[in-house]
Amino acid sequence: MAIEWQKIQEKWQKKWQEAELGKAKVEKNKEKFMMIFAYPGISGYLHVGHMRGFSYTDAICRFKRLKGKEVLFPVGTHASGNQALGFANKVKNKDENWLTYLKNNGCSEEQIKELVKPEAVVDYFNHVYINDYWKKFGFLCDWDRFTCTTYPDYEKFIQWQFKKLQEKDLLIQKPYFATACINCGPVAVDPSETDISKGGNAEKQEYTLLKFKLGNDKNDFLVAATLRPETIYGQTNLWVNPEAEYVRVEVEGMNWILSREAADKLKYQKDDVLLKEDVDIKKLIGQTVIAPGIEREIIILPAKFCDPKVGSGIVTSVPSDAPYDYVALKVLQEDSETCKIFSLNQEEIKQIKLIPIIKSKGYGDFPAREIVQKMGINSLEDPKLEEATKEIYKSGFHTGIMMDTCGKYAGKKVEEAKELMKSELIEKGNADIFHDLTEEVICRCGGDVIIKRIDDQWFIRYSDPELTERSKEQAKEMKIYPPEYHDNMPSVLDWFGDRACARLGNWLGSKLPFDDKWTVEPISDSTLYPAYYIVSKFTKEGRLTTKDLTEEFFDYVFLSKGKGKDNWKEVKEEFDYFYPLNLNLGGKEHKTVHFPVFLMNHVAILPEDKWPQGIFVNWWVTGKGSKISKSKGGAVPIPEAIEKYGVDAMRLYYSHIGSPHIDVVWTEETVFNYKSTLERIYSVIEELLIPIIKDGKDGKKNLIDLWLISKINQHIKKINSDMQDYNLRELSTTVYFTIYDDLRWYLRRGGENKKVIKEFLKSWLTLMNPITPHLSEELNELLGEKDLISVSSWPDSDENKVSLKANAGEELIKDLIEGMRNVLKLAKLEKANTFTLFIAEPWLYELYNLISKEIKVTRNVGEIMRTVLDQEELKMKGKEVSKIVQSLIKDVSKIPSTVTSQEEEFNAVKEAKSFLEKEFSCKINIILAEESDNQKAKSAMPGKVGILVE
Ligand SMILES: [Zn+2]
Repeated sequence: MAIEWQKIQEKWQKKWQEAELGKAKVEKNKEKFMMIFAYPGISGYLHVGHMRGFSYTDAICRFKRLKGKEVLFPVGTHASGNQALGFANKVKNKDENWLTYLKNNGCSEEQIKELVKPEAVVDYFNHVYINDYWKKFGFLCDWDRFTCTTYPDYEKFIQWQFKKLQEKDLLIQKPYFATACINCGPVAVDPSETDISKGGNAEKQEYTLLKFKLGNDKNDFLVAATLRPETIYGQTNLWVNPEAEYVRVEVEGMNWILSREAADKLKYQKDDVLLKEDVDIKKLIGQTVIAPGIEREIIILPAKFCDPKVGSGIVTSVPSDAPYDYVALKVLQEDSETCKIFSLNQEEIKQIKLIPIIKSKGYGDFPAREIVQKMGINSLEDPKLEEATKEIYKSGFHTGIMMDTCGKYAGKKVEEAKELMKSELIEKGNADIFHDLTEEVICRCGGDVIIKRIDDQWFIRYSDPELTERSKEQAKEMKIYPPEYHDNMPSVLDWFGDRACARLGNWLGSKLPFDDKWTVEPISDSTLYPAYYIVSKFTKEGRLTTKDLTEEFFDYVFLSKGKGKDNWKEVKEEFDYFYPLNLNLGGKEHKTVHFPVFLMNHVAILPEDKWPQGIFVNWWVTGKGSKISKSKGGAVPIPEAIEKYGVDAMRLYYSHIGSPHIDVVWTEETVFNYKSTLERIYSVIEELLIPIIKDGKDGKKNLIDLWLISKINQHIKKINSDMQDYNLRELSTTVYFTIYDDLRWYLRRGGENKKVIKEFLKSWLTLMNPITPHLSEELNELLGEKDLISVSSWPDSDENKVSLKANAGEELIKDLIEGMRNVLKLAKLEKANTFTLFIAEPWLYELYNLISKEIKVTRNVGEIMRTVLDQEELKMKGKEVSKIVQSLIKDVSKIPSTVTSQEEEFNAVKEAKSFLEKEFSCKINIILAEESDNQKAKSAMPGKVGILVE
């Protein structure tokens, strides 16, 4: 009969809910464990990939709960920013794609009508995340502490946090070039793409804007944006794109000519940019300009690679060191048609010569020409040009020396000359600064993201040396996974500079307490928040109102300052009990921003004993290619996925498919395989074990019974050690595969002891609880247990139950079966009449024991026997020992490390006799080797039974 996962899930989730398992309170006699996952942004419906890290959190918390800890696992959502605003606008504007998306995810018509207000959008998704995702996945959260960053009480907390930062002199105002949406104002551009819908990997680029005087009387300058101001001595011409639109704008009393797109961007960075008129760029082609810094006349030439969207749409050409310029020049020199169109003298253009300017390692005078020839690049469309440009830029920057052609900069390192030349050009009025993004970035509202100057931007001063040092010290002490990230953390913190923390404009979020035209931006309001889960319970229950959340209140609870009111005492007691946070889990997109600021805000504001203890970074679930795809089932709404695969199969998939610290590819087949794994386990317990428990016998324990109990105790020991580092993958390998195999072996060997099976199952089902809690409860109930296994206790490994003798016995039998199969195969027999099995001669065991004792290590016997030859002490005992060892040396590698005595091996084989007879349907004789003259008897070794077939 098919297992009804849906029913099982609902049944247990209801019971857990009724028993309020997630509720955490101060338990003075228990140790506590507090863990969160980085609360998700309100970014629409989530997909199966998002459930990976969330599921790890629940598994780890379940493990800790079973280990006897008082576990606090709170959840919340991050709704600040403009996502909910964007969603509400789309509903208001009846955006077809958006409405379809909502309907496909099961949002009712009624509900959709409500979603025209951002607050309604936030409430709606909060409900979806809690009820359709987290509860349905069986998480045991403390739901009473749920909070959302747009709640008024949360704002009080953030305002307190910013007051503390200001007190500590960690808040400052200074001019800033911010990434901003043209509609919404400043947005964060980072890989988490909280604010934006495209371009999370874009970086801010600072261009030097060179001014080229045009030889007319209009005070006209063509402005070219460059990242390499140090190459001005190599300029041969200027490139403009004849197909792009250019305009003349007035800036600081001069006329600048640049692309229309660049002029639009410039308005956000400079005051009083006055658009005057369009410029017909074609008419300027062939004219000359004065190149700044070198005061040389150069010609304006056409080139389609000039992108009006990048920089200023005008490029100064340095063909000696810029692969694009080199190729463009070469192409034009051969292109008589283009020359004719623009009335250019082709001969004159052919005369343009490269000027050597930089000597860098591995290159001659003209690196651009060299690399273009080496890579076989012939056209501007060749994608290899990008790579060539990067390579020349890199080698020039790191190894380049300015050549004699470069005036007073000759002999200087490029690294140095670059900055010097840039500031001199700016100082003399020959250049300016222009900021741009390396790729197109689109806001969630659909608007373009540009770079905008803000004169009085608020910053959190993360560059503070003391804060950085103290945070680095703390990071060293923390448990941070993966270890590479732990190693990296000091340099991440060193690199982390001041961060703009608030923005003007229409945003959801908390207002700055002392300047309420500013809204705290989404990264900065999600740093210290785990602490707020302590307070949120009291506001939710109505025991504290938003008004009660004064500065004195937070100072008292979090900083132990002041006397506090009576009803604050309990809050403080909870905070002191549960804090610091033991583990913060989040996706890899948080490595460079969220985790560093999470740590630094704790260090900046809270006392040292409240600083975080751990960080766990999980990687992503991706589709083939990169996106989770529909065809592989990963893009189905989570409720549908739950129905299709079952929650436990998905949880096992996340835990077992790969290390948490690598991306894994979602494929439906894999998840179905895990579902089968669980169904196999269910069946073997239901069909084979439960009947034994009901009707089986207790009887005397056989060797195989001791073995099963021995094994499970060994596994528990291993899991306990693996879980010190939250190694869920090893846990799941052991629980769902190794232990299952052990059980199959036990049953095959005729194991049927009721007591043993009960003891084994009790442990096994508990070990399953962190990853597959529903299965674990269901089977526990099948066993006749009344209590919830989710709140039972984690099994201890009992050293006394680990039987090396039983383990060695079963290893011997497994090995023996393989040996018997080989013997049959070699003898080309379908079936044997009789197997005669020889147990090695006693003196070999004595030798083995002698050697083991002398060496005093328990290594592979083969290795031991080989080492023995070098032992002076043994040599002293006479040639006898070493001679014997010598004669054995060619066979010793076959001896397994788990060897006992002749008697024990004899008994183990004897006990397995009827099992072997059944396995091979034949008669079995067991003989001590010294009692036989047969040649086979001599081949028997400790741990290696001799086999004769007839
Ligand atoms: Zn926008």
